[in-house]
Amino acid sequence: MEKEDSKRSKEVAAGEKYKSDVKSGKDTSFWYDNWTPLGPLISISGEDGTRRLRTRPDASVADVRNTTGWALPHPRSEEEVTLHTYLSSIPVPSPDMGTDSFSWTVEGDSCSTYSSSKTWEVLRPRGTTQASAKHIWFSGATPKHAFHMWVTNLNRLPTRDRLSAWGMQVPLSCCICSLHPESRDHIMLSCPYSLTLWSEVARRLRCVVPNFGDWLRLFIELTLLYTVWQQRNNMFFNQTLSPPLVAFKDINMQVVNSITALRTRKNFRALMQLWLI
Ligand SMILES: [Zn+2]
Repeated sequence: MEKEDSKRSKEVAAGEKYKSDVKSGKDTSFWYDNWTPLGPLISISGEDGTRRLRTRPDASVADVRNTTGWALPHPRSEEEVTLHTYLSSIPVPSPDMGTDSFSWTVEGDSCSTYSSSKTWEVLRPRGTTQASAKHIWFSGATPKHAFHMWVTNLNRLPTRDRLSAWGMQVPLSCCICSLHPESRDHIMLSCPYSLTLWSEVARRLRCVVPNFGDWLRLFIELTLLYTVWQQRNNMFFNQTLSPPLVAFKDINMQVVNSITALRTRKNFRALMQLWLI
């Protein structure tokens, strides 16, 4: 884990930088700003560097030059030699050169303003893209349904088989039907309650709708799975359950509302007919 973290921080350092373009050197911190290819100098020399280079922690770059050039003691370490070598390769800052400017570079792109979205893209941990992702996070999906489907797909729902595996003393039978052990697959696919909902959906779509494998099927699947889990939780926490046909009405309403919201999009126009006729 530690290895991963340090790998990650190196990637961040490589990917996303706040950079100062030194001109006069007055607005750039000698120790803490990122103004050399070595990164902020405090990070290579440590706090002790301020003593070794006889330069105050709050010094600006301009404070470290005099009329003849850089005002630094002779280098005594490899890092200090590298720093001196770099400094000897750039013009000594002077007020005539203008004012310092700052920019963000994210993955090599220079940004005039800070972009939180670009930075997030660099910082966020990434997993490999799952093959199922396109069937969950599709255009037009309801976010809460998609998120629920994602969790379901990973088998992370707190179903009773999992609660028991975590050491919790809970009955193992399905909250809804009490007939079978409660697992994700049972709740979503084979519980009599969800089977009733699935068969209602199939009846409505008559199972022969062309392209049923597309958007509408995905949307209904997500809505149905979300509704089943809501009902399961209603039983788990409140001991109440809507009859399946009442729950189906709710699914129907959600599908109709979503199709209505998307009706102006070309690819979604025919959906209402598929669902309602
Ligand atoms: Zn059940």
